[in-house]
Amino acid sequence: MTDLSRSAIAARDASDPLAAYRDRFALPDGVIYLDGNSLGALPRKTAARLSRAIKREWGVGLIRSWNDADWVNAPRRIGDKIARLIGAAPGEVVVADSTSVNLFKALTAACSLNPDRTVILSEAGNFPTDAYMMQGLAAFSGGRLCEKLVSRDAVLDALDATTAVLLLTQTHYKSGQVWDLAETTRRAHDAGAIVVWDLSHSAGAIEVDLNGANADFAVGCGYKFLNGGPGAPAFFYAATRHHERAAPVLSGWFGHRAPFAFDDRYAPAPGVERFLCGTPAILGMVALESGVDLFAEVDMTAVRAKSAALGDLFIALMEARCADHGFALASPRDAGRRGSHVSYAHPEGYAIMQALKARGVIGDFRTPDVLRFGLTPLYLRFQDIDDAVAAIADVMESEAWRAPEYATRAAVT
Ligand SMILES: *Cc1c(COP(=O)(O)O)cnc(C)c1O
Repeated sequence: MTDLSRSAIAARDASDPLAAYRDRFALPDGVIYLDGNSLGALPRKTAARLSRAIKREWGVGLIRSWNDADWVNAPRRIGDKIARLIGAAPGEVVVADSTSVNLFKALTAACSLNPDRTVILSEAGNFPTDAYMMQGLAAFSGGRLCEKLVSRDAVLDALDATTAVLLLTQTHYKSGQVWDLAETTRRAHDAGAIVVWDLSHSAGAIEVDLNGANADFAVGCGYKFLNGGPGAPAFFYAATRHHERAAPVLSGWFGHRAPFAFDDRYAPAPGVERFLCGTPAILGMVALESGVDLFAEVDMTAVRAKSAALGDLFIALMEARCADHGFALASPRDAGRRGSHVSYAHPEGYAIMQALKARGVIGDFRTPDVLRFGLTPLYLRFQDIDDAVAAIADVMESEAWRAPEYATRAAVT
């Protein structure tokens, strides 16, 4: 049994090897932030870095900064920094566009490698944009491609000789369930399919070894565990063995082998840069790089261990203090199968989350009934988990969630 006393929890903070990272973030007073899986917190250095990029690089350097401030290489430079966190090699990752757009690039590239197959397969209940991008591509293909969504349990058995691409989100956005990257990739390859992994809820939170899994393509968000800021550029991974043959459909000039040759004919860059499209959004890149740089010396094994321990503590405290309040654990109990958030189903989930936010405990709500608590190992303490569960118990015991103002749904939940 875990010791749930306050002193035992304080002792865990005192011996936490990542404890010093909390100070690198500008967290508001009175807030326990359990939504870093949706929008990462602001690193302290980001405001000054952005201000320097705006005033000096843009304001004074003007167009010279494409070379002098190395703006032109930002997609690849930041991509190489992210590569280390996801088990990729330098030269296999670029930063560009949004995750949704990168999904389109990865799906089309994968389909071009499997031209005789027709099906793009995924899991029903995947993050909506993943399914929507599949559907848009299938509709545009004029019958060449079709999309297929099957239940999570049926995915591996649905792989067959028609499957061109398997698209999965490694850490499920709602339940936090984690697909075994290596085993799932192997099963898909055995069936002749290419795999596109969405690492939005994995990168910066759990250990990912793309090359160890012999992965094909991957995409993911910059604004979640990587702390790149709202709408930060996303990342795109293509295994080196695919660079030459995978044809970019979004064949923009930044992916050309010589953009400044201004040739009439498109010829893709030889490496992963072929998956760039247009001019990189430099201000977003500067903020993203500031977030990613925080990971420079971080040991991902320690991040994963702390994420698992925070989740285990959350679950144990909920069992000890909130067992009678109608919460049903909606995430795996086994930390080895759980990503870096813990979810609970509750019929009054929306109102309860609003009441928690009013107390400074910020998680989020996912329809129809899921309260989601993100566990970011770089800036959360074990004592924050203790305090958060105390607030949940208080909201339930006081019935504070019944206040009428918590019943109206906002645009973003
Ligand atoms: C957050 C998230 C996205 C977001 O895509 P955007 O294009 O950045 O809006 C995509 N996929 C998954 C699995 C996510 O969790």
